[in-house]
Amino acid sequence: MPDRYDIFIVGGGINGCGIARDAAGRGYSVCLCEMNDLASGTSSMSTKLVHGGLRYLEYFEFRLVREALIEREILWSMAPHIIWPLRFVLPHDSSQRPAWFLRLGLFLYDHIGGRKLLPPTKSLDLSRDKLGQALNGRFRRGFEYSDCWVDDARLVVLNARDARRRGADIRSRTRVVSARPNGSDWQLHLENRETDTKEVVRARLIINAAGPWVDTVLKDVFGQNDPANVRLVQGSHIVVKKLFDHDRCYIFQNADKRIVFAIPYEGDYTLIGTTDQDYAADPGAAGISPAISEAEVDYLLAAANQYFDSPICRGDIVWSYSGVRPLYDDGASEAQRATRDYIVKSGEDAGKPPVINIFGGKITTYRRLAESVMDRVEERLGKRKSAWTARAPLPGGDFDVNGQAGLCAQLSEDHPYLQDDHIARLVRHYGTDSLRILDGATTLEDLGKHFGAGLYEREVAWLMSDEWAMRAEDVAWRRSKLGLKLSGAQMADLEAWMQDRRRREAAARTNNGS
Ligand SMILES: Cc1cc2nc3c(=O)[nH]c(=O)nc-3n(C[C@H](O)[C@H](O)[C@H](O)COP(=O)(O)OP(=O)(O)OC[C@H]3O[C@@H](n4cnc5c(N)ncnc54)[C@H](O)[C@@H]3O)c2cc1C
Repeated sequence: MPDRYDIFIVGGGINGCGIARDAAGRGYSVCLCEMNDLASGTSSMSTKLVHGGLRYLEYFEFRLVREALIEREILWSMAPHIIWPLRFVLPHDSSQRPAWFLRLGLFLYDHIGGRKLLPPTKSLDLSRDKLGQALNGRFRRGFEYSDCWVDDARLVVLNARDARRRGADIRSRTRVVSARPNGSDWQLHLENRETDTKEVVRARLIINAAGPWVDTVLKDVFGQNDPANVRLVQGSHIVVKKLFDHDRCYIFQNADKRIVFAIPYEGDYTLIGTTDQDYAADPGAAGISPAISEAEVDYLLAAANQYFDSPICRGDIVWSYSGVRPLYDDGASEAQRATRDYIVKSGEDAGKPPVINIFGGKITTYRRLAESVMDRVEERLGKRKSAWTARAPLPGGDFDVNGQAGLCAQLSEDHPYLQDDHIARLVRHYGTDSLRILDGATTLEDLGKHFGAGLYEREVAWLMSDEWAMRAEDVAWRRSKLGLKLSGAQMADLEAWMQDRRRREAAARTNNGS
C-alpha cells in the first residue's frame, strides 16, 4: 500500500468505481473509499436500464442521447452476464403524443447511436399481438424498440473488482472525514465504520464522486461554505408479482408527460417505476436511502392501472425501493426536466492541490464520464496510458454477447447436480466466474450450507472474499436480489453465519500475526 496515492476517490458508486478502474488501468496509484457498502447509494436504486433515454430527445439532449446510445452495445459486450438487450413496448392511443412524433423520435433513436447488434424499431398491432394481451383493450397500436437491461449494483462491484485487480486499493465502510492541503498533496482523514479505526493518507489529487452527497462532501470534508450544485430528485419503484408472461418491458406515457416502465424482474416479478420528485431532506452523513412515499405508491399504481387490463393494488406490492438522483442544478423548473447529463468540474482554489467534482450522470454513461475525468487528471498528473476500457471485459464477462446459453450448457454438463434455474442465476451474476466459484464441487453437499433460495455457503464465501460483502443485506440486496425470496429467519441465519466467519477469519489473522 503506497503512503501517497496519485488519486483518491470519495464514493463507491458506479462513477467512483468506474473512475477507479479506468485510472488503475492507466497506471495511476488509486485509493477509493466508500462509507457504506459498495453501490449502497443511488447506484443500486436505479431503473436498471442502459438506455439512450427516448424522452430526453424531447428536451433536445442530443449529445447525451447519442453518447448513451453508443454506450449500450459497448457495455453489453463488456459484461454480457449482467447486461443484455431488452425490447420496449410503447402502447399508443390518440390521447398521447401523436404517432408521427413517436415515429420520428424512434427513427432518430435507431439511427444516431451507432446501433449494430440491437434490433431496430417496429410497429405493433396490439389488438392481435400477444404483447397486447395484458393491456387494456383501448391500446390497439404500439411500437417496439431496443435498449438494454443492467444489474446496476453488480456493475459497480465488477468495476471495483477490476480496479483492484489492476492495483487499486478499494475500501468499503470507510468514510472520508476530512481533506486538507498539506504542501502539494491532500491529507485525508479516514474512519473505518466496521472496526472504528482511524487512518490518515496522502494523495496528489482527489475525485469527489459522492453522488447525492457531493455537496455534503464539499462542505463537511473540504470545509467549503454551503456549496449548491446538485438538485436532489427522488425516484421510487414498486415490485409486484409478475403481471405478464413475456420478456418485453412496457413503457407507459402518463398524462403529466412523464413515463413509467413495467419491466420483467428477477424471473417472478414486475418492476414498476419511476417517479421524479424534488428531495428536500439532507441526504444524511450516514447515507441512508429514502423510503417511497404514499403519494409515489399511488402515482405508480395509477400509472400501471391505466394500461394493464387487471388492476393492481397496494396489497400486490412485495417490495419497493427509492433512490436520489444527484442531478446537476441547471435551473430547470420541473424535476423531470432537469438535465441527466454529467458535469465534471475541477476545483480551482489557487494554491491548493487539485480536486475534481462530479455532478449528475447516469449508469449508462459512467464509462464515458470516467474517460472525461481522466482527461482532467492527465492535465494535472501527466498522461500515462490512453483510454482502454471500451474493449476490456469486466470480470466474468469474457464471453460472446450471445454466449449465456452456451455458458449455462457448459455449467450444466460440469455440474449435473445443479437445477437449471440455479445455473441460470449463477451465469447472470458471475458469468465465467461461475466456473471458478463451483471449481472442484461434484455434489450439492460440496457447496456447503444452504441458506434458502438456492444460496449456498460456497457463493457467500466468494462474495465475502472477492466482492466486499460483509452483511447479509449486501448479499441479499446488492450482490443479488435474493432478498426477494429469503425469509426473515433465513436472512438472520445468513447474517449470523457471515459474522461468525468474519470473527474466525479475524482470529486467524491475529494468530498469524498479520
Ligand atoms: C430512481 C432512479 C432511477 C434511475 N434509473 C437509471 C437508469 O435506468 N439508467 C441509468 O443509466 N441511470 C439511472 N439513474 C441514474 C443513476 O442511478 C445515477 O446517476 C448513478 O447511480 C449515480 O452514481 P454515483 O456513483 O454518482 O452516486 P452513488 O451511487 O450514490 O455513489 C456515491 C457514493 O458515495 C458515498 N459517499 C458519500 N459521502 C462519502 C464520504 N464522505 N466518504 C465515503 N463515501 C462517501 C455514498 O455512500 C455513495 O455510495 C437512476 C437514478 C435514480 C435515482
